[in-house]
Amino acid sequence: MIAELTIDLDAIVRNARALAALVAPARLAAVVKADAYGHGLVPVARALAPHVDRLCVYALEEAVALRDAALDAPLHVLGPVPASDLDVAHAANVALTLWDDGTYARQAASVARRRRKPFAVQAKIDTGVARLGLPYARAGAALAAYAATPEFDLRGAFTHFAAAEELDSSFTDEQLARFLSAARELGGDIERHAAATAAAMLWPQTRLDLVRAGIGLYGIWPSSETELTMRGRGLRLEPALSWRTRIVAEHTVDTGGSVGYGRSWRAERPTLVGTLPIGYAEGLPRNAGEAASVLVRGRRAPLIGRVCMDMAFVDLTDVADAAAGDTVTLIGRDGSDALSADDLGAACGTIGYEIVARLPAAVPRRYEGAAAG
Ligand SMILES: *Cc1c(COP(=O)(O)O)cnc(C)c1O
Repeated sequence: MIAELTIDLDAIVRNARALAALVAPARLAAVVKADAYGHGLVPVARALAPHVDRLCVYALEEAVALRDAALDAPLHVLGPVPASDLDVAHAANVALTLWDDGTYARQAASVARRRRKPFAVQAKIDTGVARLGLPYARAGAALAAYAATPEFDLRGAFTHFAAAEELDSSFTDEQLARFLSAARELGGDIERHAAATAAAMLWPQTRLDLVRAGIGLYGIWPSSETELTMRGRGLRLEPALSWRTRIVAEHTVDTGGSVGYGRSWRAERPTLVGTLPIGYAEGLPRNAGEAASVLVRGRRAPLIGRVCMDMAFVDLTDVADAAAGDTVTLIGRDGSDALSADDLGAACGTIGYEIVARLPAAVPRRYEGAAAG
């Protein structure tokens, strides 16, 4: 084993239950894009499907992978589907995200006509992220056109927030008002949804009919503000993923000596250095040696030097008896201490989201829990 990712599917299911209880009576959709935030698309989707209203993916390929794995849960593709793939999307029985009132919408309608079944459609309204969506100020006409198109089964309208992980921003309320105004003419049977994990936690008025939760399902907080607020209210989320490797070699580096490329780290004392067999190709950011720590024998040990493509360095001087072969925990628990994806993210100048989403699909994942079957 060079590195191993262990995923506790029961923790994911417990997180889904806790989030579903938090947002009820709004329904819960599980966002499993980016290989289920690095946790593994198919096993996570299988574990979650019985506990959520639907699954949201980004790309059509992810939806097809779930159908190929015999998952028949409702699926919503959040991202763009090329016109050339509309037949595949229709055959996979997914809800398509629409934000176009021109050629693309006509192409989707013509695929549905040819295949003799309406296309399930979710209309995306841009209220301030400026990414995808009908501009809110003129969304009403396009929504009315979708609703009046017999080839479309308009299921819902949705938007996405730009700054919902902060409490001291009024922009979330502004976006919500823009969205509700743009969607006001829609019939009552057409669902409205807006909140992802952070908004559902900090802004209860955004829960509407459905919450699209991603990061919280995996037991990672969207921000320190959500963590502080929701822990205070008794919400428990359990991190589901552990990332471990082993020390493969040890060296003593004398005072003044260096490790790795660029010689960016210099020993200020005789230092016991361990070599780890993973690097940025395995998902460890190249700058992790500037501030991140790992756990060895239940103790924190700092990463040092510049992370290489496939290797990295750890200072073992203060870990009594550390030896080649010892387990190294990058994310997860070891004894009484634990490191989160966010701890590693913060030390690398990023967020837990990016750390887990960039874990390569090629690293073996081991699934634990009753939901793993
Ligand atoms: C990623 C995403 C979500 C989930 O966001 P989290 O912060 O992970 O809960 C919800 N909606 C859309 C449109 C997204 O792109």
